[in-house]
Amino acid sequence: MDDQTSQDHEALLQFLYMAPIGLVQARPDGEILMVNPLCAQLLMPLVPDGCLDNLFTALQAVAPDLAHRAASFQDTHGLVCEAMQLPIGACTDGAAGPQVLSLTLLKLDSERLMAVLSDITQAVQRDRALRHSQAWIHSIVSSINDYALLPLDAEGRISAWNASVERLTGHGSDQVLGRPLALFYPDGQLPPQRLADRLLEADLHGWTLDEGWRMRADGSRFWGSCLIAPLHAPGDQRPDERAYSLIIRDITDRREANEALRRSVLCDHLTGLANRRAFFEAAELELHRWQRQPRPLALVAFDADHFKQINDRHGHAAGDAVLRHLAAGLGATFRNLDLVARSGGEEFLVLLPGTNLDGARAAAWRLCQAVADREVLVDGVPIRCTMSAGVAAMDAEVDGLDALIKRADLALYQAKALGRNRVECWQPGLRHAALAAQAG
Ligand code: GH3
Ligand code: MG
Ligand code: MG
Repeated sequence: MDDQTSQDHEALLQFLYMAPIGLVQARPDGEILMVNPLCAQLLMPLVPDGCLDNLFTALQAVAPDLAHRAASFQDTHGLVCEAMQLPIGACTDGAAGPQVLSLTLLKLDSERLMAVLSDITQAVQRDRALRHSQAWIHSIVSSINDYALLPLDAEGRISAWNASVERLTGHGSDQVLGRPLALFYPDGQLPPQRLADRLLEADLHGWTLDEGWRMRADGSRFWGSCLIAPLHAPGDQRPDERAYSLIIRDITDRREANEALRRSVLCDHLTGLANRRAFFEAAELELHRWQRQPRPLALVAFDADHFKQINDRHGHAAGDAVLRHLAAGLGATFRNLDLVARSGGEEFLVLLPGTNLDGARAAAWRLCQAVADREVLVDGVPIRCTMSAGVAAMDAEVDGLDALIKRADLALYQAKALGRNRVECWQPGLRHAALAAQAG
């Protein structure tokens, strides 16, 4: 050997000695000729007497047929066994499961064997954890009925299909793959820009949830929620790595329960109109809109005239029937976007967005006339009833809902003072007249 070759040989031996895998050279009967430090460390727990001189003896407990396999290997050289997994006992780092070695045995020639050993405990544990979570997801996906779980790509397109999708939405795999999430939404309800916004929201906050109508393959609808969460690491901008999980849930039942609760909290039980609380919640929102962007907004306060007399004459139940009749009249007179509520007893409030003082006065008067013109038949008994109304319009001097209601109330007092069955509008100076009328 020349100098260079011997230096190279020395370097190679040095490398094999320090290599991050365990290496053993042995005779055909297993007698060890060379072992590197890592391999000695891996094999040491298997040789309680500390005497590491034979590979087959060392591995006897975990690979009892290794000597036989080596002996019966016919070829002059080649792989006797490859990546054989050897569980060698409890893990030292506290992880679940045994420590596992991987063994590959090579016949180099008739005189020498070479074994390659590595610790694959972590890889085996990762593999097991992956298999468990896959089985776990599979069992969730295949046994749930009111959820569908599926992955989305970086653009929010459906990238895989499973049975839960078909169960919930009726879509087969050929109908969903590569299609955008909007497939499950009624037409036009999830335009590309909104989908992009939702993915961005999921990136920023870790998830995003929306509720609303969802579409099945047959065009029928259900009330559903869509939860989107990123599968990629936060801040990962690589398109190939970006993906999301989507959980669609049929929450029709829950919505119905919520609706029932909403109705019981926000509806007046006698008339079915919104109650005082619902009125205040919705009217506050309307006033905020007005404060952002002023436009006509009017309020009418109604009060049934001499209602006490109706009760006294016909009984409380008949009075209730008259109240229901008045509520029906209010519902028929005002538009859907007007907010009609029974604010208490025989009093009602109506908020009219987009309507000015004159428009509101006209609508209120139409109702008063209709009520006055038609007797209510209760158990065959005709009952005559009239209403008075006060109207106020929103302007820059009104600093909130209470102030607006106060103006409408003052106008209502005025209507009562002036003889009832009439409509009065708030105007500056009304306060004193109304208070005087109230006192009188
Ligand atoms: P006014 O023209 O000045 O408004 O006279 P009024 O009798 O209507 O006024 P008042 O406020 O003195 O009486 C209201 C009456 O409405 C008294 C109450 O018994 C009756 N009332 C309040 N709530 C109900 C209800 O839910 N059902 C029935 N039947 N009567 C009710
Ligand atoms: Mg009253
Ligand atoms: Mg009254």
